[in-house]
Amino acid sequence: MFLGHIAVGLAGKRFAPRASLATLLFAPMFLDYLWPIFLLLGWEKVRVDPGNTVVTPLAFDSYPWSHSLHMTLFWAGLVAIVFRTVTRDTRSAIWIGIAVASHWVMDWITHRPDLPLWPSGPKVGLGLWNSVAGTVLVELALFVVGLWLYMRDTRPRGGRGRLSLWSFVVAVTLIYFMNLASNLGPIPTSVSPRTIAMMGLALWIFIPWAWWIDYTRRTVR
Ligand SMILES: [Zn+2]
Repeated sequence: MFLGHIAVGLAGKRFAPRASLATLLFAPMFLDYLWPIFLLLGWEKVRVDPGNTVVTPLAFDSYPWSHSLHMTLFWAGLVAIVFRTVTRDTRSAIWIGIAVASHWVMDWITHRPDLPLWPSGPKVGLGLWNSVAGTVLVELALFVVGLWLYMRDTRPRGGRGRLSLWSFVVAVTLIYFMNLASNLGPIPTSVSPRTIAMMGLALWIFIPWAWWIDYTRRTVR
């Protein structure tokens, strides 16, 4: 899932209005931010396998440290505790922990059974990714709700506050649909895990972007 995680980030302003959107987006993306780092370290494995599901050609052969349920709960607790220690904001810290854990639940809905319950444990996944229409419907619905909540709770500080948010919305929507469309043509199977990791690392750009959005909009709750 991609837009669904971003939706949780945007919706976060409702539940943790004092936290920056950068932090609120970082939390639900956290597992996918760890994943490319663990790929580069050789701790986790991915491979291009056209038709693995109709939504992605990636076969997630092994990602116990970033994507097992057991480790997800560990990361959620860790991120929440670090946030609470730095900010003393318990309410936001609880939301941040929930948001980190939400990633696993959303991946569980979308992935085929490749998510381990614990490292080397049984693998689960409901496989929404076997349906393009179902995936797009669920992700777009989540994204629209998240964006709606965010816009209800914030106001732009002039034109910059509109530019920051809408450029972000256009960028993530474009990335999402270009990614889907890339499955229609022939899929190069020679893409290395390193290249996949680099593309994953590029998504870290959303954090300074979210910081910019937060800086140019005020919270009205
Ligand atoms: Zn994920």
